[in-house]
Amino acid sequence: MENDVLNKHSNGYRLTKAMGFLVLICIGSYILVMGITSVKAQEWNSLESENFILNYLEYESDAEWFLEQLIYASQVVQSVYPHTLNTKIIVYLHLSPNEIVPDWFTTVCIGNTLHFITPTVGKEHGGPWVDDMWYQSAIIHEYVHVPFWSEINYNPPGWFSQGLAEYIPNFRANIVDTLEKSQWSIEQISNKVKTGDGYLQYITPDIYWGGAYLVKYMYEEYGQNAVVRLIRSDATSFSQALNNELNVTAREFEDKWLRWACNEFGADYELYNLTQLEPEPEPEPEPEPEEPESIDPILITWQEIYDDLITQPDDFIRTFFEDRISAYGIDNWSTNIPDQLKPQFWDLYRDTAITEPLEPEPEPYPIEELSEELILVFNILDNVVAELIVGADDMDSKMDVLETNSNETNERITQLENEISRLENTILYVFIATAVILTACIAFFMKKARS
Ligand SMILES: [Zn+2]
Repeated sequence: MENDVLNKHSNGYRLTKAMGFLVLICIGSYILVMGITSVKAQEWNSLESENFILNYLEYESDAEWFLEQLIYASQVVQSVYPHTLNTKIIVYLHLSPNEIVPDWFTTVCIGNTLHFITPTVGKEHGGPWVDDMWYQSAIIHEYVHVPFWSEINYNPPGWFSQGLAEYIPNFRANIVDTLEKSQWSIEQISNKVKTGDGYLQYITPDIYWGGAYLVKYMYEEYGQNAVVRLIRSDATSFSQALNNELNVTAREFEDKWLRWACNEFGADYELYNLTQLEPEPEPEPEPEPEEPESIDPILITWQEIYDDLITQPDDFIRTFFEDRISAYGIDNWSTNIPDQLKPQFWDLYRDTAITEPLEPEPEPYPIEELSEELILVFNILDNVVAELIVGADDMDSKMDVLETNSNETNERITQLENEISRLENTILYVFIATAVILTACIAFFMKKARS
């Protein structure tokens, strides 16, 4: 009994426990289902442009502003680092940190997809430095990664990829105050260079600002095309790419960097034992060879001719010019006369000697000759046209003959067809008549035989 009670109690206990679990499972499932549906209910909205698909949940005005900034970023990057995008860049504006975007102020690039916290929320929670300019800079930064990683074939040093992504927004984009806000970071690099720690091993660990200055150095020392070639190089390592595309060894790359950095930050070259790399003094420009003062004998001769000419009577001067014109032509009679003296000869030509034209002004076109030639051409054309007309008439008459012939042939064919059908009818009539006569004969003979 007691056992029974205990068993019953025990059974009841188990039942209650099972029911409890069931309720728990039901509640759990309910919560789970509601959770999933509520997540699904958060549908992404999207804005699309030529190069971007921008996905956002709320804050439509954020999305519109963001798309404008993306388009600006694309233009800026294209002007510094020309590239083609294989696909549209997909952008997500999250409302809070999550497994993709771990912080309020973190931005992420994965392949051709960029993730940000939507600006309204990011500016509220991300920290005092997160403002519109911070977003503009971050958008360009993340954008740069997309073409860079799609084009690069070797494993680049971190400072190259992050440096390019920082160099463009900070030094090549038109974002207000961006350098001022980064003063502290810039000073770190500047101080290293100024205190003799400007070597790559001390600069490159700061992959963002160290990288930005190294990329600035590459753009200024080797040029934009060289940097783009460096990114696209088919070399298998960075140092090989430096060798192939910039034509320098890693050592030369560093030495040139040190010299550039000393110049950029106003540091002392002597810190780096760069004497052998000091820019060679610009060679003194060769002094322009002075015009020799010696007097040109030709000039003297022509001056004498002129001096003599102006003392002569007009007829003499006229003859002088006529001779030259007949020798060189009306426009080139002053050929051979030194340039310095040409004006005075021309003055003489116009004022003194030439009271009327030396030769009649040549007609721009010899109209009569031209019209004769034209008449000739027209005559030829007339003949050609006439022949064409005759040919066409001839063709017409031949066509007429052909048409007549074909009409006659058709008539003959019709006649023959009529004759054939008449013959056919005759044969038919003969056949029927024969059959009738034959039947009559048979009937006649049968009747006769019976009787
Ligand atoms: Zn980056």
